[in-house]
Amino acid sequence: MVIIMSAINIKTLARENVLKFLKSFDTVLTDCDGVLWMHMTPLPNSSDVMNLFRKFGKRVFYVTNNSTKTRDDLVEKCKALKFQANKEDILCTANLSACYLQSLGFCKKTYIIGSEAIARELEQVGISYYGIGPDTINQNNPYSVFKKDPEVAAVIVGFDEHFSYPKMVKAATYLNDANVHFIGTNTDERFPVSSDVVIPGTGSLVRCIESCSERKAVIMGKPDKYMAKMLMERSNIDPQRTLMIGDRCNTDILFGTRCGFITLLVLTGVTALSDVERWKQSEQQEERDLVPNYYIDALGDLLPYLKELESEIS
Ligand SMILES: [Mg+2]
Repeated sequence: MVIIMSAINIKTLARENVLKFLKSFDTVLTDCDGVLWMHMTPLPNSSDVMNLFRKFGKRVFYVTNNSTKTRDDLVEKCKALKFQANKEDILCTANLSACYLQSLGFCKKTYIIGSEAIARELEQVGISYYGIGPDTINQNNPYSVFKKDPEVAAVIVGFDEHFSYPKMVKAATYLNDANVHFIGTNTDERFPVSSDVVIPGTGSLVRCIESCSERKAVIMGKPDKYMAKMLMERSNIDPQRTLMIGDRCNTDILFGTRCGFITLLVLTGVTALSDVERWKQSEQQEERDLVPNYYIDALGDLLPYLKELESEIS
């Protein structure tokens, strides 16, 4: 058992303490974008690190809030970028939304604000849906004449580049019935992009629908605990021997803290070290919960230590 202190820079540890750290967990949960890859570009050595974790017998899960990909899509992406992965190793919010409704014994229809991936995951569990694609205002489609589909008993909000006022009208109207389930895939406010343009994320859309429906969504993704519940149901993990790796503290690290996992921040994505330094000094527990146990500049920087461990074992 490693003594856990806040935000230890792995590179400042003595070699034997890094090896001790690497032996302190049996399960690895990793976020994807900003940790393993940026869009379609893998980050240097990150696949070697993940594949060595597997080689050492650690259980690896890819845990992403991205609602625009199915589990099959993510397995394909992992394979294309040289990460070993099976469908059972993927936790993604499009799939979790379908699992959530399935766990309720849901057999009615779902109104989706979101992408094809959510539709395909619902199809796989036999749940009908509508709402994918553009829904714009025009003279033939004034939102005021919208008629409810009486079969709809759930609304899912995920990332939707066609988000519009008519979609808000529909979602809010369905949700006006308290028996209609309200699911939000995740709460990430913005997408990490390198340009000057701000790209609003799913969290912005979920908040919008929460506002006009005057209700709170059940959230599938990190940092909410539903994802952890599903993980516990699917595998027998020991939280104290589980490592959560992420690039974003208000989702990945907070999720790990709430679940009692060991947390590792990589600085290749959203959160900067200056944010961590500020939260460390904070009087507020909510901000201190964002502080990781460990950090490292990039996931690939673990490779030399893992290779050393490999030679030690063989
Ligand atoms: Mg990320």
